[in-house]
Amino acid sequence: MTEHPPGYLPENRSGGGLEAWPQIWIATTNKDKFKEIKELLKSLPLDVHGASELPHYTAPEEIGNTFLENARIKARFLKAMKPEAWVLADDSGLEVPAMRNLPGVHSARYAGPRARDIENTTKLLHQMGIQKIADRTARFVCVMVLLGPTGQDQVFEGILKGLVAGQMKGKTGFGYDPVFIPEGHTQTLAELGMAVKNRLSHRAQALRMVRTYLEGILQGVVAGV
Ligand code: IMP
Repeated sequence: MTEHPPGYLPENRSGGGLEAWPQIWIATTNKDKFKEIKELLKSLPLDVHGASELPHYTAPEEIGNTFLENARIKARFLKAMKPEAWVLADDSGLEVPAMRNLPGVHSARYAGPRARDIENTTKLLHQMGIQKIADRTARFVCVMVLLGPTGQDQVFEGILKGLVAGQMKGKTGFGYDPVFIPEGHTQTLAELGMAVKNRLSHRAQALRMVRTYLEGILQGVVAGV
């Protein structure tokens, strides 16, 4: 008899006699982030969906004081809508220890509630200049919360260490990429390009851990071996 993975529901059956894979819902409406996550999970027997497929979905307010709190807020919000599925949420940002870990959880809104990437990055360079910050050490952090169909709650963290550059350089990526030089490199993430970034990034690291965890749980179960 086929043993079903957690999250399997009889109504998940697709046509043609094939049994559908369990669903995983990603708590983001950011198309690029969704694409990146979907790509890394594609080897798994999972049916991947994004929150933007849900009519009337609006992301909850990120009122947490830590990346973990914010990732949990997003995960639990979506889980209330999809209780039977796996749900994955992340929160990320840039921390500069010499600036009490700012911009941190405020990374997206550092220069104001609707600030654009360039405004946030300009403010960071400006603040580091006026505060005469000599130690430009920084790190990107990504925390992912995975909620399982039977209530499992797993946390994964990826960290990319580096330095804040003196000026913006490069064209690819988003956010603080033009001012972040990863450890072991001399160029910013925006100069190094997406292929390099996707190998190194805090999000890719956390996602690889999520994938390994899910592989362990799902391996063989769908195939009934
Ligand atoms: P969130 O995880 O989507 O809430 O992203 C928070 C903010 O952190 C983004 O808007 C960016 O400003 C910054 N950030 C997170 N990850 C990256 C990255 O990979 N590159 C550059 N900036 C990032």
